[in-house]
Amino acid sequence: MKLQQVSKTYDMGEVKVEALKPSSLDIYAGEMLVILGPSGSGKSTLLNIMGGMDSPTSGQVIFGDQNITSGGEVALTRYRRNEVGFVFQFYNLIPDLTARENIELAAELVKNPLPIDDILEDVGLDERMDHFPSQMSGGEQQRISIARAVVKNPRLLLCDEPTGALDYETGKLILSLLKKINRGRDCTVVLITHNIAIGAMGDRVARMRSGEIVEIAENPTPVSPETIEW
Ligand code: ADP
Repeated sequence: MKLQQVSKTYDMGEVKVEALKPSSLDIYAGEMLVILGPSGSGKSTLLNIMGGMDSPTSGQVIFGDQNITSGGEVALTRYRRNEVGFVFQFYNLIPDLTARENIELAAELVKNPLPIDDILEDVGLDERMDHFPSQMSGGEQQRISIARAVVKNPRLLLCDEPTGALDYETGKLILSLLKKINRGRDCTVVLITHNIAIGAMGDRVARMRSGEIVEIAENPTPVSPETIEW
């Protein structure tokens, strides 16, 4: 996928906030791309534009042979529904549905979902499936939210600070799970974080500062998340 000179300016009446300056980025199929930057540097804005959750003020988003930016609302919805899975810092599970129902709801939205039991095996939470989110730990909820994203069999998995609300050990387990899905399901993963140490697990690392991508570095030897320390 290609982001071509995408920018985002929020018009707040008196002032305009330039959340993202014109930025270009290619995302390679099957890679794990880590986007690093301090709070407020534009990471979420960039990720939301990638996922069709937000439209850029200028520039183009190209996915395969499809121009997401100019395709209109129907194409945008189809793209978001079928091609993209989202994982959020605070899980965003539906509280009134059990873990299994949260996953089933996502599966029902798409044409070719993966078998739910396969996904449950991936995330390793079989026995908790009939529990509600409030009965689960943060790490368990995040595993369910990953299952909910992955059951759609998306080509792109977008993760916004997925370990931001978790303790150290649980955070590392979640990162390992994301890596396993990236490698095992050939699913492109883009992960944003302010945690510099996490960059070491990426195939590439893009650094952001003040609404700009200031560096994109290849990482020839990405490490396994279990070995990362912060
Ligand atoms: P990050 O994810 O790196 O913390 P964001 O992309 O969330 O950064 O935000 C970048 C900048 O854009 C910040 O200054 C933020 O306050 C501003 N911003 C983000 N979303 C909005 C919005 N909906 N309205 C106004 N300003 C926004």
